[in-house]
Amino acid sequence: MKYTVNDQGYYGDFGGAYIPEMLYPNIEELRQQYLNITEDAGFKAEFEQLLKDYVGRPSPLYHAKRLSEKYGANIFLKREDLNHTGSHKINNAIGQILLAERLGKKRIIAETGAGQHGVATATVCALRGIECVVYMGEVDMERQAPNVARMKMLGAQVVPATSGSKTLKDATNEAMRDWINNPEDTHYIIGSVVGPYPYPEMVARFQSIISLEAKKQLQEHTGKQLPDYVLACVGGGSNAMGMFYHFLDDEEVKLVAVEAAGKGVDSGHSAATSVLGKEGILHGSRTILMQTDDGQVVEPYSISAGLDYPGIGPQHAHLHKVQRAQYVSITDDEALNAGLLLSQLEGIIPAIESAHAFAHLEKMQFRKEDNVIVCLSGRGDKDLSTYIKHFNF
Ligand SMILES: *Cc1c(COP(=O)(O)O)cnc(C)c1O
Repeated sequence: MKYTVNDQGYYGDFGGAYIPEMLYPNIEELRQQYLNITEDAGFKAEFEQLLKDYVGRPSPLYHAKRLSEKYGANIFLKREDLNHTGSHKINNAIGQILLAERLGKKRIIAETGAGQHGVATATVCALRGIECVVYMGEVDMERQAPNVARMKMLGAQVVPATSGSKTLKDATNEAMRDWINNPEDTHYIIGSVVGPYPYPEMVARFQSIISLEAKKQLQEHTGKQLPDYVLACVGGGSNAMGMFYHFLDDEEVKLVAVEAAGKGVDSGHSAATSVLGKEGILHGSRTILMQTDDGQVVEPYSISAGLDYPGIGPQHAHLHKVQRAQYVSITDDEALNAGLLLSQLEGIIPAIESAHAFAHLEKMQFRKEDNVIVCLSGRGDKDLSTYIKHFNF
């Protein structure tokens, strides 16, 4: 387990917990308890039951024949788009709500940018009858009105963050402030492999069900457990970490992480952290992030809200630095075209986030016997208006 976290909470040079002193008790409680709780047989049984009956797992590993023909390799899609609520985010939300219950918490907080993580959190809170408060930038609330409505319908309170740029980082600050003020009864559900240790590790473990299933399923399809390539898109990096997890120590499996180049890496409108980023502290961990020379976080840009993030999780920063995974980037236009292609070759409309991973297939060279797994992290229903605007349907 060369690439996992050490007992100080670091992946090589990255990770740790850089937090205000007032958050220390909350983080320390989590750090001490999360492994005992999540490794317990009763926890595992309940987690697996809900993943099966509520989320609809295992998600299929689908052999995409027409896509395979186009690219000259055997391409398999890991169908996280078929999960309840439409993406991989629910896997982590279920894990964390069960953890919160066992920690004796009575109230959940979360922050959300595009609203996808907010919806997953509101969903699991409804499922368990737990109070839910979601912080969201005021600007994002306007841009993502349907997800605000979903959260409200699910019984969550959505609180606008009205400071700064009124977007994700301001919502994060509000959620942190809430947690500091309510350390006893509240659990903060973070939605990706980011934040102070132990969050990146905890979220990666909950999402690792993706590669656990995929390994078995590939064996059934091909007689081999190991693919030649695994691809996934990276915002904070949780679907990619889940998709890579059980292949990390199989060094012959090539891992490809696809970031959003936005309008182009040199355009000033991009979220390609591995190209543009430098080492620093973001959201409580040491990682790679987009920042100015004097350390201000640069506002990222991508057409896909889920990839519009100025950093990557610390484990990705490590995999990038030691070159265990290859980090590449795809522009808005390339992603939208790949979304259209997948729709018309396979009858599957992907989330624009996931379409970034598919767009990279175009730039790869395969042998016809290569087995390739692409993580289809979410469905495209939420992105229909963006596709319509771009293609003039
Ligand atoms: C949120 C989201 C992402 C990006 O988040 P990661 O933590 O990088 O996985 C990717 N795809 C979909 C469908 C999402 O909703």
